[in-house]
Amino acid sequence: MADIVQLEGDIFQVDLRECGYEGRTAGYFVRGSGGWALVETGPASSAGVVREAAAQLGIEPEQLKYIAVTHIHIDHAGGLGVLARHFPGAGLVVHPKGARHMIDPSRLIAGALQVWGEEKMRQYGDIVPVEEGRVLHAVEGAVLDLGDRKIEVWETPGHSKNHVCYYDAATGGLFSGDAAGVYSPGLSQRLRRPVLRPATPAPDFNGEQMFSSLLRIAASEIKQIYFTHFGAGRPPRLLVENIIGQLTVFMHMGRQCLQQGGGAREAADALAAVMRRYARFGLLEEEDVPAGMDGRMAQEWDFMVGMTKLSAQGIVQYLAKTSG
Ligand SMILES: [Zn+2]
Repeated sequence: MADIVQLEGDIFQVDLRECGYEGRTAGYFVRGSGGWALVETGPASSAGVVREAAAQLGIEPEQLKYIAVTHIHIDHAGGLGVLARHFPGAGLVVHPKGARHMIDPSRLIAGALQVWGEEKMRQYGDIVPVEEGRVLHAVEGAVLDLGDRKIEVWETPGHSKNHVCYYDAATGGLFSGDAAGVYSPGLSQRLRRPVLRPATPAPDFNGEQMFSSLLRIAASEIKQIYFTHFGAGRPPRLLVENIIGQLTVFMHMGRQCLQQGGGAREAADALAAVMRRYARFGLLEEEDVPAGMDGRMAQEWDFMVGMTKLSAQGIVQYLAKTSG
């Protein structure tokens, strides 16, 4: 059985069980009078979970009108080609800068292999090409038309060049992909404060663009955020302001780490340590899983601190590229 949570307004959150982890990556089925949309596919290895969830929800393959991805990183879009075959009527919604790498994924695969290595890529599953004729371009102002429900595309670069968010006017919710960071619902509840971190991975991160995208989201009237990692969060302004604050600190600290000399690698290591300290909020003394957190909570903790190295590299590389 797929793990499905019904959110308000006919939105169904599916735990895509990315590489076997619970609570890490979510896809969302959205129902309108004119059919269904899926936002985010997860990696190719999650395609079985998506198909199972669709069956549980009673969605016939031809009732899925759109499969939309926020960007082409493989934990978000790796399953697009496989799922396109299973849902033959679905338009495949992806930003034009990402579309060509889904049609011919050779560069996407080569790049991902460099970042993740062979073992992780095996776990993500095989990326298969999508048919060019089925691609719909996710550009600013484009609309996914589900009859009584319209979902708008917002271009939100920064995490990557081809990143978009999807705004659902029916609920005031924003499917944020990685633009508003990575959110831990379990830890937020447990620590009684929002626990989230910006997602700034090398080699794609662009600081100025991410700030612009975040300020746009902060100034909007959205009522909640549907994070891909993971689940629904609110109030959105508090969460986005938290991310803007963290990003400001990390960019500043990244600059200082670079100025200390020693090169980009050393600077990234130093910044990663700062980011891990920040994730601990000073409440928790060790980088190990805090006492009393096991199972699902421990996995969320791991995900919050486990990616700091790649995020620190992203910030340092961006600063090195743009300074002087
Ligand atoms: Zn990403």
